[in-house]
Amino acid sequence: MSQRTKPELLIYDFGGCEGCPLSIIRVIVQLSQIVNVSSRYLGSVDLNRSYDYAVLTGSICLDSVRHVETLRKIRENAKIVIAYGSCASVGGITLYARGGQEPMPEHRKFTSITKLIDVDYSIPGCPPAPQTLISLLSNIKQGRGYFLDLFKASSYTSKLSGFDLIDEIVLTGLCVGCGACVLSCPTNALQMIEGHPDLIPEKCIRCGSCTVRCPRFSQLLMQRAKLLEKSRILIRGVSGEKHG
Ligand code: SF4
Ligand code: SF4
Repeated sequence: MSQRTKPELLIYDFGGCEGCPLSIIRVIVQLSQIVNVSSRYLGSVDLNRSYDYAVLTGSICLDSVRHVETLRKIRENAKIVIAYGSCASVGGITLYARGGQEPMPEHRKFTSITKLIDVDYSIPGCPPAPQTLISLLSNIKQGRGYFLDLFKASSYTSKLSGFDLIDEIVLTGLCVGCGACVLSCPTNALQMIEGHPDLIPEKCIRCGSCTVRCPRFSQLLMQRAKLLEKSRILIRGVSGEKHG
């Protein structure tokens, strides 16, 4: 594929531990084979031009007018926005940030990107496996695929954590004891007790990795997304709005 026919992809980091941008660098060669990549890590970026994809990392500091305005501008200029990583998708550990730290002690309130703008897909993970991004882009191109459904469904929620996993899967009896959640947890906040996961609350950074890795919770997310889509179509029908 020639340079000119490849889609344009912007990678933009709103700040955090930098684990997400670093994880994307691990697949940058593969990415460059399917899209033209613009990123501050690779040179300057132009936020005033349009992009086919914007892959956003980090959470948004609500005390920063620049962050909020930049986010809105990217949304206006990008056809498809992907929140990559837990901070961008569900807030993650930055939900605990209370400010006071150098170099920005005035930065006190953080939220996920999904709470401020409409996101097309969100990939929770701290950080996600970067190959997931390649697979999602390939699913988007094909117009179908498991990652397309799962990460579209997770874009409809701005809160996922080990607490949700316990409440909605373990305590409801839906857990099949596969252990995928325990293996996916970056902080060892989950442990198997008598065949089912148990949460060590003080270790949970609310990254949501366990929920998208759980076969039962991911089914739940996709079922809820379908119901939400149906209710939106019904509401549009009742109010006479045009679809699309
Ligand atoms: S239990 Fe682990 S994987 Fe799940 S949200 Fe908490 S830190 Fe993340
Ligand atoms: S991934 Fe889901 S089904 Fe598997 S052990 Fe964890 S909670 Fe149970």
